[in-house]
Amino acid sequence: MNAMRTVVIDDTTLRDGEQSAGVAFSLEEKIDIATRLAKLGVPELEVGIPAMGAEERESIRILASLKLPARLLVWARMKSEDIQQCAGLGVPMADLSVPASDQQIQRKLGKDRRWVLANIRRCVAQARDLGLQVGVGFEDASRADPDFLLQAAQTAQAAGARRIRYADTVGIMEPFGVHAAISRLRDGLDVEIEMHAHDDLGLATANTLAAALAGATHLNTTVNGLGERAGNAALEEVVLGLRQLYRIETGVDLKKFPALSALVENASGEPLGWRKSLVGKRVFSHEAGIHVDGLLKDPANYQGVDPAAVGRRHTLVLGKHSGRQGVIQAYAQLGIALEKRQADRLLAEVRQFAVRERRSPDDRELADLYRTLPQHSSSPAQAETVLGERPQEVASHRLAVAA
Ligand SMILES: [Zn+2]
Repeated sequence: MNAMRTVVIDDTTLRDGEQSAGVAFSLEEKIDIATRLAKLGVPELEVGIPAMGAEERESIRILASLKLPARLLVWARMKSEDIQQCAGLGVPMADLSVPASDQQIQRKLGKDRRWVLANIRRCVAQARDLGLQVGVGFEDASRADPDFLLQAAQTAQAAGARRIRYADTVGIMEPFGVHAAISRLRDGLDVEIEMHAHDDLGLATANTLAAALAGATHLNTTVNGLGERAGNAALEEVVLGLRQLYRIETGVDLKKFPALSALVENASGEPLGWRKSLVGKRVFSHEAGIHVDGLLKDPANYQGVDPAAVGRRHTLVLGKHSGRQGVIQAYAQLGIALEKRQADRLLAEVRQFAVRERRSPDDRELADLYRTLPQHSSSPAQAETVLGERPQEVASHRLAVAA
């Protein structure tokens, strides 16, 4: 299905991602994030809002001067003075944002639909006169009258915009509705169509994939899904989802993604949830005895997503649901070969530990538990010398070999 189709990722970590409450990237962080995104093969980056001030414009200028192998965009409200600020920054394209829903047209701007259409004609022309390529971003498109949205998009096309953006600004869409909405725009337009989703209902990635299937040419993402409120569609989920589910390629290679994910996590000042898909600390960890045993026999038994696709590995942890095989494996990684009898005894200890402490024992604690056994065949000193090696990685080497 859709083999060989391509879509363009337009990552907005540095714009919508930074709009996340309490987030402000330093210039060094912006440079690092942009450089890493470009290195992974992300072809477009939305890098800021020129109207925010001289400092923001200077950082945009510096990002443009890096000559990264990615097209840069800036974001502006569809206002003459804001558009003026987009010129002369070395950035070739601007997304000009205008409300499309009556709710926002009337109750935010105090205007009407006719004003919106006239404003599109005037502002697209102004931006083009400044030498900019223009996208028109329809804010709150998901609550707009579909007939008016199409009319406004056709107005943008006629005025010389090369792209329109469908923004589910308040995050209320679901994939079937997105597919219908984007299909309608696709049929009535001859410009690029970009999807901008928010995750308020946990559907940002699903909605973004649906938009791609309906003919959207460009998709907005952010690293780790950072963004306003519940965030945007996560870059890693969209790229992997497109490839794994639909064989749609983006040219983005996620094998070095963990470093970028960690960089954005640190720069955002908030830790990522441990269950966050693809990047959360524990999403490739296995504890339950049945799963660990199955994985050790063949990773395909319990693997839907290959962790290597996002630069990660399976990890094995011990806990309440572990089985004997998991204990033997974990201690083998510490350089300790257990007899069955010892493993059963340690399994009981590990389970008690997990219930008591509400976590898995770490390497040192495993070595301590081993020392409490009446007799053991390896010396504790020897066990400690191998603690530096992450046992999980050893396990995953074996899993990789088994694969
Ligand atoms: Zn947004």
